[in-house]
Amino acid sequence: MSYSVLIRGALDGLGDSMSVSDTLVLDEVRLGEDVFRAMAPVSFSVTLSNVGEAIIAEGEVRGRFRTSCIRCLCEFDADFVADVDGFFVQPEDEAGLPEEQDRQVIVDDRIDLEPVIVESLVVEFPFAPLCSLGCAGICPTCGEDLNMGVCGCAPEAPASPFEGLRGAFPPEGPEHEGRS
Ligand SMILES: [Zn+2]
Ligand SMILES: [Zn+2]
Repeated sequence: MSYSVLIRGALDGLGDSMSVSDTLVLDEVRLGEDVFRAMAPVSFSVTLSNVGEAIIAEGEVRGRFRTSCIRCLCEFDADFVADVDGFFVQPEDEAGLPEEQDRQVIVDDRIDLEPVIVESLVVEFPFAPLCSLGCAGICPTCGEDLNMGVCGCAPEAPASPFEGLRGAFPPEGPEHEGRS
C-alpha cells in the first residue's frame, strides 16, 4: 500500500502548500505481538508545505482498529486519532540531515504519505491493549472469562461461607450483652 502525492508543480516554491484529505486502506499493523486491524479505511487530512529544506506534512488521521485484549483475549474495536507529522526530502538533501531527523525520501517528485500515517497511528496504539480498564481477565485455572462472572475455582473461596469470619468477632458479644 502507498499513498503517492505528486508535488511537482504544486509545491515548487518556498512557502507553497497544498491540502490532501482522503481515505486510505491500511493493511493490518503489527506492534510487537499485538495486531491492529483497520475496520475501515482510515481518514486523514494533511497539509503539505514547502519549508525550503524539506516538504513537511502536518495533519490528523482517524481510524477504527480491532485488536485483542491482553487480559481476556477477546477482540474489541477502538477509535484512534493521531497527529500526522512527516518530513520529506529530495534524495540529494538526505545526507546533510542529522541522524535523529525522521525523514522520508522524495522519489520522482512524489511523496508517499502512507508510512507517515501508519507511524502516526502506531504512536497512539497501546502497548498492552485492554478491552476496558477494569477487565477482569481470564481464570488462570479454568480459562473462563471472568468478565462474564466468577468461575468455580476462585482461589480465595473459603470452605464455608462463614469460614472467613471465624475469629473476627468474640464468641460472645460483651458490649451487646452488657446493654441488654
Ligand atoms: Zn479484556
Ligand atoms: Zn476458573
